[in-house]
Amino acid sequence: MTSESHNPGGDGSDAPRRLNFVEQIIEDDRKAGKWDGRVCTRFPPEPNGYLHIGHAKSIHLNFGLAQRYGGTCYLRFDDTNPIKEEQEYIDSIIADVQWLGYDLTDRIFYASDYFQQMYDWAVQLVKAGKAYVCDLNAEEVREYRGTLTEAGKNSPYRDRGVEENLDLLDRMRKGEFPDGSRTLRAKIDMTSPNMNLRDPAMYRILHAKHPRTGDAWCIYPMYDWAHGLEDSIERITHSICTLEFENHRPLYDWFLDALGIYHPRQIEFAKLLLNYTVMSKRKLIELVRGGHVRGWDDPRMATISGLRRRGVTPVALKTFCSEIGVAKFNSTIDLGRLEYSIREDLNLRAPRVMAVLNPLKVVITNYPEDQVDELDAVNNPEDASAGTRKVPFSRELYIERDDFMEDPPRKFFRLGPGREVRMRYAYFVTCQEAVKDAAGNIVELRCTYDPATRGGDSPDGRKVKGTLHWVSAKHAVDAEVRLYDRLFSVENPNKVEEGQAWTDHINPDSLKVLENAKLEPNWREAADKATWSDDTARVQFERTGYFALDADTETAGKPVFNRTVTLKDTWAKIAGK
Ligand code: ATP
Ligand code: MG
Repeated sequence: MTSESHNPGGDGSDAPRRLNFVEQIIEDDRKAGKWDGRVCTRFPPEPNGYLHIGHAKSIHLNFGLAQRYGGTCYLRFDDTNPIKEEQEYIDSIIADVQWLGYDLTDRIFYASDYFQQMYDWAVQLVKAGKAYVCDLNAEEVREYRGTLTEAGKNSPYRDRGVEENLDLLDRMRKGEFPDGSRTLRAKIDMTSPNMNLRDPAMYRILHAKHPRTGDAWCIYPMYDWAHGLEDSIERITHSICTLEFENHRPLYDWFLDALGIYHPRQIEFAKLLLNYTVMSKRKLIELVRGGHVRGWDDPRMATISGLRRRGVTPVALKTFCSEIGVAKFNSTIDLGRLEYSIREDLNLRAPRVMAVLNPLKVVITNYPEDQVDELDAVNNPEDASAGTRKVPFSRELYIERDDFMEDPPRKFFRLGPGREVRMRYAYFVTCQEAVKDAAGNIVELRCTYDPATRGGDSPDGRKVKGTLHWVSAKHAVDAEVRLYDRLFSVENPNKVEEGQAWTDHINPDSLKVLENAKLEPNWREAADKATWSDDTARVQFERTGYFALDADTETAGKPVFNRTVTLKDTWAKIAGK
């Protein structure tokens, strides 16, 4: 089996392809000698939730550009709103970026470390007559702001003198005023067609304890004010953000120009949108707090930690990000494309074992009671170096319940009364009888085998159409298997009709727990954490999908497997029904 680190250029990025528009900008800048040829980017999450797959796209873009151009990318926590931010989120974000494979040594920064510098710059703008303390409350500010079609009005506090502004700002900072009673605002243009330029707030009063600065501050900088300053301090060259910030760019530029400080270039790209998925942190938090899922890392969540627990590899996620590309316009990506990338990677690397998810007992009546055959099985048909293993076969086996039909249609190539199939790697087996309990449920099949077909081939050239996976009953290991379906039953769970809640679209059947699965005894060697870069063991259960060993295994007393993805795109089929 190959390990992740042996997968050369595993993110698909070494294939020749056209530059995306951000790369084009960077290459043009380098040709023009801008930024001294440097490339410095950042990924700037607010630590108010766990990261999701959309963030993975941004991480892949920012860290990927730095790698490609020999530059640097920082992880910067935009921790400017203490009410919503927590250490747990900071820790999870660091873990997720590292899991994706990016080195964070000496590359983690916090906006809160710049609070004093930001404040000094605010004082500079006040002194230059470019910022003022405003006493309007939130509602009044809204009234004065105007609308898209109507100019705003100047605040009655707009023409305060510099000395008075400096005094009030100082007292805001010292905690003399209650929350919401005053703001510091930039003095730009209340008639600007761009609403963001209508004297935007720079600071608000918030008597809240910050996870890192504690009670040192009771005024906190607003996003638009803070973000460019953070970029400037870190000497970012290309500040990449999503499209909604396009009409914030004039403000980003205004602040940096007004201060006359180092001025990065803001570039906007289209965010990742996925069907059947929600990504807003507010909604992810609601899924967790409302008990709709088992936690942030529930394998149904679009969080990076959920995808990891589900068994998705960093390679698959990065390949997906490379393949969907970077664009200037929003479009929704089909979840099937993510599943495709996951399958492609696991197909190459996941060792195969046999596991029966819904067991039905099979007794081979002509097979000697105490005999055990050790049959050769291929560990990974995609990787000869993975070798073979011995799988025990005996008189009693388990097969999948739905591999048998009492009254099968002609095209059903699996087992039925009188029908012959191949037991993978073993023998041809013919069903003689289905045994039922008093209620009429099939509890056991009685079959015969042909000893001449050992290994799965008939010497007389006889053909069978079906091959089943199986597990020897007395060698089987009990396991729990969790099958996942889409968390939402509609393509766009963000679209809500009147009288509905978005949570109404949650798929009630998104998790199916099978508690009686049976694994071949070799599962332990196959599900080897050490061969994967992230200590997550992944296998293919033949015919039923790719699975990852869950962390719950320790507490459940038996192995628990999460199905990462099915072997084929079953959705295409179902959608057409
Ligand atoms: P919220 O869900 O509350 O709007 P957010 O997703 O914008 O939050 P941030 O912490 O501000 O959260 O995001 C960090 C970075 O990730 C930002 O640069 C943002 O542009 C980027 N980002 C967020 N969502 C996506 C997405 N779906 N696709 C690509 N990039 C994204
Ligand atoms: Mg945001």
